[in-house]
Amino acid sequence: MSFSYEFEIIMKTKATLIIAIVFTLLSCKNYTKNNIVAVSEHEKSNNSEEHPHWTYMGETGPEHWAEIEKQSSCEGKRQSPVNIIDIDATNDTSLNPITINYSNDVKIHDVTNNGHSIQYSFEKGDYIVVDGKKKELVQIHFHEPSEHTLNGIRFPLEMHMVHVDSDNKIAVLSVMATEGKNSEPFTFLEKYLPLKTGATKPVNVKFDLNLNLPKNKSYYTYDGSLTTPPCTEGVSWFVFKTPITISVGQVKQLQKQMPLNNYRNEQPLNGRIIKQLAQ
Ligand SMILES: [Zn+2]
Repeated sequence: MSFSYEFEIIMKTKATLIIAIVFTLLSCKNYTKNNIVAVSEHEKSNNSEEHPHWTYMGETGPEHWAEIEKQSSCEGKRQSPVNIIDIDATNDTSLNPITINYSNDVKIHDVTNNGHSIQYSFEKGDYIVVDGKKKELVQIHFHEPSEHTLNGIRFPLEMHMVHVDSDNKIAVLSVMATEGKNSEPFTFLEKYLPLKTGATKPVNVKFDLNLNLPKNKSYYTYDGSLTTPPCTEGVSWFVFKTPITISVGQVKQLQKQMPLNNYRNEQPLNGRIIKQLAQ
């Protein structure tokens, strides 16, 4: 999550209030649209002229985010992503299956190439329930290859489904993808590509996000952060154990649209416990 950069919430009240997490565009301008409440996962532009924008490479790459993004939490102790080691994950009998309420009636509002990832923003309607609290789906985006690793294995692609609740607490569902059979939902999503950096294209078509989830919904969960500046902590992560399958061509098509290796490296757990739904 998918920034001198601070986490910013802009509220607008309109009849068709939609929440969207929007990555800031290359211009370093905060990006807001009509009828959209933008929760910027990215930076704000107060002094964009004076310092470089963060990237995934070289002097502005992940190892330098904390210097570049002075106000960020990128040096925090509860950061994401992490390597998840199955035998170290605690079986937690108090965990429940995630309540996922994705409808086939909810529309994708638009797709953006924000220079860090390809992001599809959803209209209001899809949500999950975590600890009795409703968290609305805002957007999905991709990392190639994956940010989280499972038992040290990095997958070809990781999809982040970003949710926000009424207290602006973020929960991200993470789905890994392996290369294999073609995925029809990905064929649909990629119909809207290519997209130039900084460009947004309206979609306005219903999309059933359930189609992008693995059948087996067992998961690991831990307390982490946004994986992009400002690296805000307090993010609840739910990483599905089972990957979905998409074709090599589908991975490549997304890869071409995103910065090379748009992932952040493994962050130390610093005593955090990764839990899993007891089998
Ligand atoms: Zn992400």
